[in-house]
Amino acid sequence: MRLVLLGPPGSGKGTQAAVLAGDLGVPAISSGDLFRSHAVAGTDLGRRAAAYSSAGELVPDELTVSIVAGRLAEPDCRDGYLLDGFPRTLGQAGLLRDRLAAAGMRLDGVLELVVDEEEVVRRLAGRRTVVDGVEVVRDDDRPETVRRRMQVYREQTAPLSEFYEAAGLLTRVDGNGDVPEVSARLLRVVPRTPRPSPR
Ligand code: AMP
Repeated sequence: MRLVLLGPPGSGKGTQAAVLAGDLGVPAISSGDLFRSHAVAGTDLGRRAAAYSSAGELVPDELTVSIVAGRLAEPDCRDGYLLDGFPRTLGQAGLLRDRLAAAGMRLDGVLELVVDEEEVVRRLAGRRTVVDGVEVVRDDDRPETVRRRMQVYREQTAPLSEFYEAAGLLTRVDGNGDVPEVSARLLRVVPRTPRPSPR
């Protein structure tokens, strides 16, 4: 199963991705976590990505696609994965579709968490994140950066909802409420059988 979980910052995507991936028996792949691990390890890629992330901006598509594609080529992704935070632009979505098609594959579904903006801002205030076993407050969870991330989401990522709807892949799920409630809604609708192959 190859799935995408869409949703704005603070929609609970990371938490729900872990629940869903566990249930489906596939790895959850978070582009944000990949960038943070590189940053903690002090790699050149990590430094380049952090310059964008700490300002609430998106990392350029080529850099993002190359790091995610590298991760998806690892053996644990052979039978599928749940993507969390990727794709985030129409450009990335097109590149993902083309790369999958070139390998005779395609996505099986996209779930979108729909959350009220006040709930998102409330959740992000004071959020703690674990990076390589250490609990930190993310630079990009500061209030002014959160506002910029929301704006970036509306402008660059929200259009993916229509893109995937047009492809017949999208299911919208109410993301308001507590974690178990939202998990239960997602688990009710998550696709469990792969779509037939294109050929
Ligand atoms: P996240 O943990 O998913 O909220 O991602 C944290 C930050 O990493 C984002 O604010 C972006 O700066 C960067 N990032 C993560 N995923 C992507 C992506 N698919 N495209 C561009 N930038 C990304």
